Amino acid sequence: MTQQTNELIVAKFGGTSVATAEQLRKVAAIVEQDDRRRVIVPSAPGKAHADDTKVTDLLLLVHDLVANKQPIDNTWQDICGRFHGIADALGVACDLAGHLETVRQDILNGADRDYVASRGEALNGRIVAALLDAEYIDAAEVIKFSSGRRLDPLSYDLIQQRVGPSGRYVIPGFYGSDNQGHIKAFSRGGSDVTGSVAAAALLAIRYENWTDVSGLLMANPTIVKDPMVIPEITYRELRELSYMGASVLHEEAVFPARNHGIPINIRNTNRPEDPGTMIVSDREPGPYLITGVAGRGGFTIILLEKAMMNTEVGFGRRVLDVFERLGISYEHTPSGIDTVSIVVSDDNLGDNLEQVLHDMQAAVQPDHIEVHHGMAMIATVGMGMNRRVGTAARLFSALATCGVNVRMIDQGSSEQNIIIGVEEPDLAPAIRTIYDAFTPEDAPGVGVSEM
Ligand code: ASP
Repeated sequence: MTQQTNELIVAKFGGTSVATAEQLRKVAAIVEQDDRRRVIVPSAPGKAHADDTKVTDLLLLVHDLVANKQPIDNTWQDICGRFHGIADALGVACDLAGHLETVRQDILNGADRDYVASRGEALNGRIVAALLDAEYIDAAEVIKFSSGRRLDPLSYDLIQQRVGPSGRYVIPGFYGSDNQGHIKAFSRGGSDVTGSVAAAALLAIRYENWTDVSGLLMANPTIVKDPMVIPEITYRELRELSYMGASVLHEEAVFPARNHGIPINIRNTNRPEDPGTMIVSDREPGPYLITGVAGRGGFTIILLEKAMMNTEVGFGRRVLDVFERLGISYEHTPSGIDTVSIVVSDDNLGDNLEQVLHDMQAAVQPDHIEVHHGMAMIATVGMGMNRRVGTAARLFSALATCGVNVRMIDQGSSEQNIIIGVEEPDLAPAIRTIYDAFTPEDAPGVGVSEM
């Protein structure tokens, strides 16, 4: 790989960043500001305002209309209107009318769902390439799927071979093709994955993910007023927070960049001067003990009690076996001397509760089983908590002061997270309390000492 190739930046622009001509002008200014932004991954035009519809959703609607033998004209006009509105205002020439007509014919001829969904990116990619005077690479050529919609590692070689040592390229996000050449798409929001794969393939110095927020927030803004942006976070911390509901990137987008040690920078197209959030492999502790706090409801706790459980070899395995046999994955298993609790999300539990209780009875004959519905889990995450005395004390005394009853506690052995279970109505107050307890005037070491 040449030096120049190593110094490139892959910049992915999400749906709101490419929703209108005005947004695309901002994109062009951002791209042109740094010559290293050589590989651009656009989404399909998203919502231009809150009541708008994403082009991908319009395309999926057209697909369903055809499948139900309904006329598509109105919806198709909307789609054409969106694309022509953008291209005309920008004055770009890319034979948009011809490409749109090809897609329309394909749709009427019964093209499958993935193909139809992906055309938003494919068409928008052509507009963006014309606007930036960049080379357009059809993602079907370089993003390959093997069976089960898994990314074929061959994609890395194909991208490397296709992207030259100089010049600018546009690779539309969200789709690729299987080994028979059929178009396949990632799950919704999948342009993030395309960007990450391209960054990994090209060993980019950075994967920039441009969106409409100035980074990942320390807490959910619908719960905490004006939470601070996280300046830097490790991949592992991000995983813990996203698992508990903090969302900024497609779940699968972290792995390609992470495996190649490529930092991901979440940036705001509407405020390019903001540094955003850097997602990195390792970092120095920041100004606060915690990096963020996130939580979600929809959990059930099943508590088993049996006298002398601690002496019964194989007890834990038999309990977990019940879940394995029913194909249910569980979240946590905090235990006492004669008790063990299994925390499972309602999505995973489905309607299997009766069966679980029945099988549990047969497997371990507990003295007592309790089921607690309507539980919420909250993860307080931060590598800064590692080896610091007093973090847990601060967290639990804050929760006690605001009257939140903590029903379950689990601290990962890495000491980078403390997970608590509370009743769903306590979710928001608990998150607010934890956030307040660790910010803002807090500084590392205040009230705590390092071990
Ligand atoms: N356009 C696709 C969606 O709306 C993919 C993406 O934007 O990343 O999900």
